Amino acid sequence: MEAGTNLNKILKELPTGVKVVAVSKTRTPSEILDLYTSGHRMMGENKVQELMEKKDKLPGDIQWHMVGHLQSNKVKYIAPFISLIHSVDSLKIIRTVNKEANRNNRVIDCLLQVHIATEESKFGFSEEELLELLRNFEPGDYPGVRLRGLMGMATFTGNEDLIRREFRNLARIFRELRESGLVSDDFNELSMGMSGDYGIAVEEGSTIVRIGSLIFGERDY
Ligand SMILES: *Cc1c(COP(=O)(O)O)cnc(C)c1O
Repeated sequence: MEAGTNLNKILKELPTGVKVVAVSKTRTPSEILDLYTSGHRMMGENKVQELMEKKDKLPGDIQWHMVGHLQSNKVKYIAPFISLIHSVDSLKIIRTVNKEANRNNRVIDCLLQVHIATEESKFGFSEEELLELLRNFEPGDYPGVRLRGLMGMATFTGNEDLIRREFRNLARIFRELRESGLVSDDFNELSMGMSGDYGIAVEEGSTIVRIGSLIFGERDY
């Protein structure tokens, strides 16, 4: 029950309404079941294969979130059940999610991942690419996709000012999009913040934090 205790500590400090995705990558089904037993349902994984292996060993009412980079040839595996895809980073993925959602008679909630870090390695749209995408986006063309908001990862650094600037920038983009009329009222989730920086993310307006090591302990790859 240690993970449940850790999560409750985090929840106690969060403003009401901020959701926690417990990122369970590298964790065993029994560790995840432990957290489930404490009452938590939102779990996140970053690899399709790992998610599929665990999912079948765990209760069916877990709300699984895909938080890692997604290849289009893997979308078909998660389309029947995925609760929210945080990491949509191309029109190609949107098309594939739409197709697989239709096949499953589902509408799949998606976040658009935005590249906000000064680091090179992170996936995601630039602000310009995001605007270009949304200006040309006809929701009627993608009935299987519901765009719910944005996701971003800050630079992995101890520089809190930099982290704050990056999250603030993402929150600005999110706010401006909501005011622009380019997105629907459903576009109301902002996924930012991990174990090391979720406090800053929440101060800057995050609605979903994705927390792994602070709940389950340090990962041991
Ligand atoms: C691993 C991961 C997290 C959680 O990281 P922690 O530092 O363990 O909280 C959050 N988001 C994504 C996309 C991840 O891959």
